[in-house]
Amino acid sequence: MAEIILAKYGEMALKGLNKNTFENILLKNIRRRLKSIGNFYISRAQSTIYIEPENEAADLDEAYVVLKRIFGISTLCRAAVAEKDFEAIVAQTMRYLDDELSYARTFKVEAKRADKRFSMKSPEICSELGGKILAAFPHLKVDVKNPDVIVTVEIRDTNAYIHSKKESGAGGLPVGTSGRAMLLLSGGIDSPVAGYMMAKRGIVISAIHFVSPPYTSERARMKVEQLCEKITDYCGDINFYCVPFTEIQETIRKECPEEYFTIIMRRLMVEIAQRIAEQDGSMALITGESVGQVASQTLEALVCTDTVCKMPIFRPVIGMDKTEIISIARKIDTYDISIQPYEDCCTVFTPKHPKVRPRLADIEAAEGRVDFSKMVTNSIQNTYKVTIKLKEC
Ligand code: ATP
Ligand code: MG
Repeated sequence: MAEIILAKYGEMALKGLNKNTFENILLKNIRRRLKSIGNFYISRAQSTIYIEPENEAADLDEAYVVLKRIFGISTLCRAAVAEKDFEAIVAQTMRYLDDELSYARTFKVEAKRADKRFSMKSPEICSELGGKILAAFPHLKVDVKNPDVIVTVEIRDTNAYIHSKKESGAGGLPVGTSGRAMLLLSGGIDSPVAGYMMAKRGIVISAIHFVSPPYTSERARMKVEQLCEKITDYCGDINFYCVPFTEIQETIRKECPEEYFTIIMRRLMVEIAQRIAEQDGSMALITGESVGQVASQTLEALVCTDTVCKMPIFRPVIGMDKTEIISIARKIDTYDISIQPYEDCCTVFTPKHPKVRPRLADIEAAEGRVDFSKMVTNSIQNTYKVTIKLKEC
C-alpha cells in the first residue's frame, strides 16, 4: 500500500516572512536531510509538503525520524494514498486503520476537500465514511468531542490521503530564513542548547570554541566537535572555529588581579568571537549564559562583558533554570556528551574568590596594564576552521 508523509507548516510561522522564501528554504532543508536515506519525491501544495518514497529502499520510518527534527514543520503524519474515488477511499481506510479502529472505542471522521471538483462535499464524506466504518467495526461509537481516533481524509489534486495520528514537528522557522550568528560553544550543557534554540528561529549557526593546550586536552576539543555534530541534526552544517587561547590565559594569570581572571577572560573571548564572526558573516553572538548560574553570570558581570562587543549577544537560556536547560539537552541528545568530564578553558585558572559584582572601571583598570591586542591577533591568525557536516544517516 502506498504510504507517504505529510509535513505541514502553520500559517502562523509565515507571519512577517515571504511565503516563497520560507517554503523554498524548508524544501531545500528537507531534500538535503533525506538525501542520505534514499530517493523521495518531494512536492508541496497548500501549506503541506508531501514526502513519497520513490522505491522500496527509501525508508519511511527513518525519514519520519529525520523530519521530526527539521525546523519549520509544525505537524506531521503518515498517510495512506488512495485514488480519488469514494469506494477506493473506504477500502483503503479499512485496511490502513484496521488496527487502530479495532482497538478504539470511539471515533470521528474529518474530511478536507481541497479539490473542489470531487463530487462529494466534506460533510457527505464524513457521514458516508462514518457509516461504513460503523458497519465494519460494530463495537465503535461516534464521539465528535473527544474521540479515540480521528480518521482524516484529505482530497487533494492528485490523490486522496487518509491518516489518523498527527504529531507535533520541531516547530520554529526553517534554518536559513533568519541570517547567521556565532555560537560560543563550550563543552558544557548550556551552550549547545542555546545554539539549538536560536536555530529554531531560523538562524544558521557557526560555532567558536576556545582551547588552552596543554591545560585543555585534545579529548576536550573532540568532545566539542562531537557536540557540534550532534546539533547538526537540527542546525545543518556548522562552520566550526577553534581558537588557541593559552597565551592570553597565561598572561591574564600572570598580570591581572586574580578576582578578575574570569571576567577579563570572557571579555577577550567575546572580542575575538566578534572579530571572527565579522569574517564569517555572522551578525550576532550566542552564549549559553543564564543569570546567576555562576559568578561570571551575574547581571553586573554580563554588563561588563557586553561593553566589549558591538554586535548583539543572544542568550536564549538567560531566564531558564538548570533543570529546564537539562530537559532540552536531553531532548536534543547532547546531555550525555556534555556531562563527560573534560576540562574547559573557563575552568582552568578559576579564581578562588571571583568578583561577583564587578565594576567596569575596576576591570578596565585591571586590564589596562596589559596590551592584549597582539595576542588577540595571534589567536585569530592561528584559529583553525572546519565545516562540520550534517551527519549522514
Ligand atoms: P556551558 O554549560 O555552556 O559551558 P556554563 O554554565 O558552564 O555554560 P561558563 O563555563 O561560565 O558557563 O560559560 C558561559 C558561556 O560562555 C557558555 O555557555 C559558552 O557560551 C561560553 N563559553 C565558555 N567556555 C567556552 C569555550 N571554551 N569556548 C567557547 N565558548 C565558551
Ligand atoms: Mg562551561
